[in-house]
Amino acid sequence: MYSPSISGVVASSVSGSRIFVYEVEGMRQSCETDQTSNPIRRSGSVFIAVPYDRMNQEMRRILRMGGKIVSIRPLNGAPETDGTVAPEQGLQSQKSGETSKSMTQAKEKVQVPVNLYKPANPYIGKCISTEELVREGGDGTVRHVKIDISGGNLHYLEGQSIGIIPDGTDKNGKPHKIRLYSIASTRHGDNLDDKTVSVSVRKLEYKSPETGEQVFGVCSTFLTGLQPGDDVKITGPVGKEMLLPDDEDATIIMMATGTGIAPFRAYLWRMFKENNPDYKFKGLAWLFFGVAYTPNILYKEELDKLQQEFPDNFRLTYAISREQQNVDGGKMYIQNRIQENADELWELNQKPNTHTYICGLKGMEGGIDEGMSAAAGKFGVDWAGYQKHLKKDHRWHVETY
Ligand SMILES: Cc1cc2nc3c(=O)[nH]c(=O)nc-3n(C[C@H](O)[C@H](O)[C@H](O)COP(=O)(O)OP(=O)(O)OC[C@H]3O[C@@H](n4cnc5c(N)ncnc54)[C@H](O)[C@@H]3O)c2cc1C
Repeated sequence: MYSPSISGVVASSVSGSRIFVYEVEGMRQSCETDQTSNPIRRSGSVFIAVPYDRMNQEMRRILRMGGKIVSIRPLNGAPETDGTVAPEQGLQSQKSGETSKSMTQAKEKVQVPVNLYKPANPYIGKCISTEELVREGGDGTVRHVKIDISGGNLHYLEGQSIGIIPDGTDKNGKPHKIRLYSIASTRHGDNLDDKTVSVSVRKLEYKSPETGEQVFGVCSTFLTGLQPGDDVKITGPVGKEMLLPDDEDATIIMMATGTGIAPFRAYLWRMFKENNPDYKFKGLAWLFFGVAYTPNILYKEELDKLQQEFPDNFRLTYAISREQQNVDGGKMYIQNRIQENADELWELNQKPNTHTYICGLKGMEGGIDEGMSAAAGKFGVDWAGYQKHLKKDHRWHVETY
């Protein structure tokens, strides 16, 4: 079995720095590689240890030599004194996915509540308040609905969803099926008393392609039509895909379209608005938010305020499709913003505690992948393969609907 230590130029400079292991395919042997004592294997992958501050430089060098980086892993327990490591250490962590998971996932002790209330026996909450989020001149109706959940055992974490059973029956006289809504409040609720849950709901409205009649969505019409005091049947909570890591130094990249902002509102409120003794966010949060018109920027006032208050920790990038133009003169969609910032996003994604979250309209991932693919390509990295590794590591989170 191949197990030489990685040594030479790269490894000799790792002392005192965090180290990552690049798995590289197709790197040709040459005078240059021979001279730098790279860990060349004649077939398959080679593994190269790289200190954090030389990652980009090393990527370019690998690319120059015809190599393709297929994964990047933090090296668990690398000896930082002599800088010599065995490649299997990097490979093992890749296979188990445990290294970065333990660095970035929710702490073990945090219990994720799931399905505390089921459709057969839903929690009956009470609407406390309802507020229009689309301002004058905007498109459609989106309401922030706050619901009292003080009477039972319904609790949740940021990034989860609740199920709603609308009042009434379907065309067969049966109770309506549940619809899911991302929770827009933190676990402590908008009143910070652990007694409420909030959602951001777009009223679905469209012209029937068959009859041309105006059709209204069942549950979204029910929710956006609620009045304070009305009962709401709630199930859940559900979802583990969009949980926020406990790591206070993490980089959290958020990409939202429309009501996809809901879980990110919860994250940002937890990071910057609440004073939680167990979570003092010190990392970087970067929100990309795509909407049609400025009045459709949900929670705009609060987002802008957070950005002004925390300029070092919160970046805010809007894509306003009907008002802004991309470099080609077309409409500015979220993917255009991703493409504009792809190199930086790519670089941020090299850090083992960077998480990317995508939430909103189905189909928005396509453009995002295009942007990331172009950036990764500059370093000879195949984005699809790299993204698989990010997903496996629970660092690439998607919830679109
Ligand atoms: C995990 C998750 C989280 C979600 N979070 C949110 C959220 O935070 N906020 C939010 O508003 N929604 C959210 N949704 C969507 C939500 O669950 C509902 O699907 C949405 O509100 C529509 O439900 P409805 O009962 O109003 O529509 P329904 O009465 O169920 O009608 C929907 C159906 O109408 C048809 N339809 C829709 N548009 C058209 C069209 N243009 N032309 C022809 N037919 C069409 C389709 O057949 C569609 O299935 C989320 C969904 C998921 C899965």
